[in-house]
Amino acid sequence: MNEENTNLPNVVMPVCPEVKMLKGQKALITGANSGIGKGVAIELAKAGADVVVNYRGGEQAAIELVEQIKTNCGVNAFAYQADVSNENDVKAMFEKMINEFGTIDILVNNAGLQKDAPIDEMTLEQWNTVINVNLTGQFLCAREAIKEFKRRGVREEISVAAGKIIHISSVHEVIPWAGHANYAASKGGVMLLMKSIAQEVAPFRIRVNNISPGAIRTPINTDAWRTPAAYNDLMKLIPYKRIGEVEDIGRAAAWLASDYADYINGTSIYIDGGMTLYPGFATGG
Ligand code: NAD
Repeated sequence: MNEENTNLPNVVMPVCPEVKMLKGQKALITGANSGIGKGVAIELAKAGADVVVNYRGGEQAAIELVEQIKTNCGVNAFAYQADVSNENDVKAMFEKMINEFGTIDILVNNAGLQKDAPIDEMTLEQWNTVINVNLTGQFLCAREAIKEFKRRGVREEISVAAGKIIHISSVHEVIPWAGHANYAASKGGVMLLMKSIAQEVAPFRIRVNNISPGAIRTPINTDAWRTPAAYNDLMKLIPYKRIGEVEDIGRAAAWLASDYADYINGTSIYIDGGMTLYPGFATGG
């Protein structure tokens, strides 16, 4: 040990104020009554944001989440039913949010689904449903949010940015997925949608990014983790050797939406325990 350091005084940690990264901000999370959307809504509310819990089906779950958020986080919240692939529903949802909360600061484009089939058996209906919800839905919501961000501009007392959009994409924006061509095409589309919008609206101080999850324990992929055999199989794809939890995504979303992440724009953050590291090559390929 360096002798000069032995007589150093103890460093006393100051009492740190509780940081509410998103205090006073207004957030809309689509598909927020389940899975990742629910986890994101909770973490944004914990960080001080007022939240709109969008849902399509499952009203009871949405209402319960709103009550939980209001009681435990001391922020405002309401549930709103809308199909994100329906233009009129989306417009009405933003109108309601702006009437209730005055504006929007954060959009989390999360609603999504799968309709899996081998490519030669995939129906046009399966294709269209996935593209309409996962890609067109994200476009429709982003468009309405950007209208409001541009109209309002930066509220300096709230955030240094005029608005933040987080698209919940997937590792399948870059990893091809046999038997899920519609899903992978929708997420690949979300990646270039995000980058193109980010490039276009950056001068207005609007930040647009993707969070691209790997395997997260939610109802969308129950078959991949429910049984020990399925879970063990899944682990072959995850170098970090655990499934992701919705909190892993929620905490990152809260930070990404905050001014701590202000210089992050037009990029995908992969939250996947290393799934995008080509784990098959770990032993030489
Ligand atoms: P989930 O099924 O629990 O949640 C999906 C949510 O989207 C539900 O609340 C559902 O009601 C809602 N939704 C579906 N269609 C809608 C519509 N037309 N309008 C409004 N809401 C609609 O699944 P999840 O895993 O939480 O999925 C959330 C997002 O995360 C999806 O975009 C999905 O593609 C993405 N994702 C999930 C994983 C994973 O491993 N769970 C991995 C990568 C990406």
